Amino acid sequence: MSQKVVLSRIISVDRARYNETEYLTEALSPAVEALRANQPVGMPTETVYGLAANALKSEAVQQIYTVKNRPSDNPLIVHICGAEMLSGLVDPAFLSQRDSQVWRRYQNVMDAFWPGPLTILFPAAKEVPVVVTAGLKTVGIRFPSHPLSQALIHQAGFPLAAPSANLSGRPSPTTAHHVLTDLHGRIEWIVDGGSCAFGLESTVLDLTISPPVILRPGGITLQQLRQVLPDVVAHHKDNKVDGVDESRPATPGMKYKHYAPSAPVLLFARRSPSLDAVENSKALLPAIKAYVDAHPSSAIVRLTVCKQTRLEPREGYREIVLTEDGDLATIAQRLFGALREADEQHPDVIIAEATVEDAEGMAIMNRLSKAAGEVLHYFD
Ligand code: AMP
Ligand code: MG
Repeated sequence: MSQKVVLSRIISVDRARYNETEYLTEALSPAVEALRANQPVGMPTETVYGLAANALKSEAVQQIYTVKNRPSDNPLIVHICGAEMLSGLVDPAFLSQRDSQVWRRYQNVMDAFWPGPLTILFPAAKEVPVVVTAGLKTVGIRFPSHPLSQALIHQAGFPLAAPSANLSGRPSPTTAHHVLTDLHGRIEWIVDGGSCAFGLESTVLDLTISPPVILRPGGITLQQLRQVLPDVVAHHKDNKVDGVDESRPATPGMKYKHYAPSAPVLLFARRSPSLDAVENSKALLPAIKAYVDAHPSSAIVRLTVCKQTRLEPREGYREIVLTEDGDLATIAQRLFGALREADEQHPDVIIAEATVEDAEGMAIMNRLSKAAGEVLHYFD
């Protein structure tokens, strides 16, 4: 499908008035109108900005793939504004078993984490277009907590399929400005809901199999899920999980180049990282300094996770400090923006430091290692 050039416009919404229904209805009406006309719009969520379209209309969802240049075997997450929207998306035979043990697991997880950054796989209703599920029997559904995503879905009156609102392969957008940078001229409306609170994508949980599997780490950590689902396991390419077809990735999107800036990302890692990001950074500093010193004529941007390990700036060497003190939630919140900021300097290389794969560190490392093409350089 060819891509029509349109004038992109940002809808600014006054944060102090998020709970004024009349004001929100008025402010969001151009975006809602576009959604009703099967046009995708940029939508803020608490994870990253989404490119949203009517999940029940193939022609609307098709536009998402066109706008993003997204491969069509990568399914989309469907966003709802309340559990009542599950009917129409989830297999009615499954929904009718509300007293089953399986349903109780779903209910407990939804009660604990919705609204919030958790996508849950459900058996899909046949009404869900194939362009949403990419032909899988399951559909990934999420109830976001951002007031503006809830308002958009509520006002549109239908669920919204939404992947991240970046051009395919690029770091996901965490501000309306990032969306504009990638999709300018490709979509008409972008709703500005400020900087995303979490900054990385949702956790994708497969509850259709036992034990349940985290297909993609994200906003809800393994530890948090374990409190409700003690047997949940993290998907890992080396772990064999019953029920998962090993011949294709459990989450199709995992096989594509993702989150990558234009410059190559060099990821420095420790074999046994500490929980403390500052300690890791200190341990990696000699190797990073040696690399920087050995490449005096390269343009290098380094993402640091604390202030204590900064190096003397020089011509061609810049640092972006993600956090003062190594706080993982802050690193997660700033990571995609920092990768974009680094890219804007057109460096020869971007240096990043691995964190521990624990708590938010699991999602951070998943995104960082993909940005680095899965190559880690081990030191210490
Ligand atoms: P994005 O929309 O870019 O955040 O990516 C959505 C992620 O959720 C992709 O990695 C998809 O592969 C995954 N996903 C969505 N629906 C399903 C599903 N039904 N089964 C497995 N993975 C899914
Ligand atoms: Mg994405």
